[in-house]
Amino acid sequence: MSDTEPELDAPAPAAAQQAAAPLPAAPAASVVDDTVVAPSLSRAYQCQCGRPVFLRNSQCLACGTPLGFVVERRGVMPLAPASPDGDFTVHGEPGGPHLRRCANFDSAIGCNWMRPADAAAAQEQGLMEGLCLSCSTTRTIPDLSVADNPRLWNLLEQAKRRLLSQLLALGLPVRTRAADPAHGMVFDLLSAQPDQPVITGHAEGVITLNIAEADDAVREKVRAQMGEPYRTLLGHFRHEIGHYYWDVLVAPRADWLESFRALFGDDRADYGQALKQHYANGPRPDWATHFISSYAGSHPWEDWAETWAHYLHMADTADTALSFGVNAGHAELSDEDLFHADDLWQPDHPDADAFLEFLNGWVRLTHVLNEFSRSMGQPDTYPFVLPHAVVPKLQFIHLLIAQQRTGGGGALPAASAGHEVG
Ligand SMILES: [Zn+2]
Ligand SMILES: [Zn+2]
Ligand SMILES: [Zn+2]
Repeated sequence: MSDTEPELDAPAPAAAQQAAAPLPAAPAASVVDDTVVAPSLSRAYQCQCGRPVFLRNSQCLACGTPLGFVVERRGVMPLAPASPDGDFTVHGEPGGPHLRRCANFDSAIGCNWMRPADAAAAQEQGLMEGLCLSCSTTRTIPDLSVADNPRLWNLLEQAKRRLLSQLLALGLPVRTRAADPAHGMVFDLLSAQPDQPVITGHAEGVITLNIAEADDAVREKVRAQMGEPYRTLLGHFRHEIGHYYWDVLVAPRADWLESFRALFGDDRADYGQALKQHYANGPRPDWATHFISSYAGSHPWEDWAETWAHYLHMADTADTALSFGVNAGHAELSDEDLFHADDLWQPDHPDADAFLEFLNGWVRLTHVLNEFSRSMGQPDTYPFVLPHAVVPKLQFIHLLIAQQRTGGGGALPAASAGHEVG
């Protein structure tokens, strides 16, 4: 570490233990021994005929039933026609609210999300004319007259829908700018011009993504150049939305902000200077024992966004495993591979045991997933080593989201003063 590098080390968990207000218990999404507990988000969707269907499906391949993602139900549902002009209801619920396909169903992105047929309901949700919630969060799409752009746009929106479906299931606020002018989220999907580079980042609720990242060859080249073990579109979305939720959920709340600073470091450290240093000198040499990635060591905001993205990776993958009954309980691990109460930020929290089970279930699962990847000659599904020092930060995120989900978050406070981050 250079002498001038800001000190961002997270203190020992005990130091921050008493800092937060009492927190509610989180619903368990965990593997307790071999017993499977319900996930917070089911990824095993089913047609009315019983056949498994998936997040992207718009029609059951077995029985032809139309399918769509219904925001209020947090999942892909079988649909039944309800009117000659294209209205649907959820299959088997003819008295239920009428739904319509997103106008982008017939576009390059083939969006399978539904929107309320009722104009007042759509307006209340801040939806754009004819569009679903996911498509309504996109403010700028690439120029579709450029040959490859429709394909890239499709890949980006697909990743965004995966992200948003998880955020909704976790109980996090997903609001458009029209519904919430102060906190609404906005996505600009931009393509770089010779005189105008596009920097992926977040500033005051606006998330900018460079559409070139949707091209496998481009993204893989950047990944190799940067020496990263993992680089995906979904990862970009999860990282940038982490910056967004920091502004919305952490910065305006004194108790959470204080704990944040104790765990992640002081966000008031000069961001521009920290990044300049990171890129000029390379990552701090001790990053692997303190952070989930080398980039996380550049500034507390980046540590937050990287750890937040990691939590979403873990939660979605664990939920998927639980949804499909994948049991990694037989993975033989030594005690050193597992985490214990003294690794936690709040070991005495009523949810602490369930969180530890989730973590250790995750460690077992990653061993199995990586062996699957190696069996196919693919890179590891989980190319990370989770350091003990990251566990208190993950528990902080876990409890913050749990509080939001159980309604303890209350009305959103005023958003913090904006700042621009990459
Ligand atoms: Zn079916
Ligand atoms: Zn849509
Ligand atoms: Zn960032």
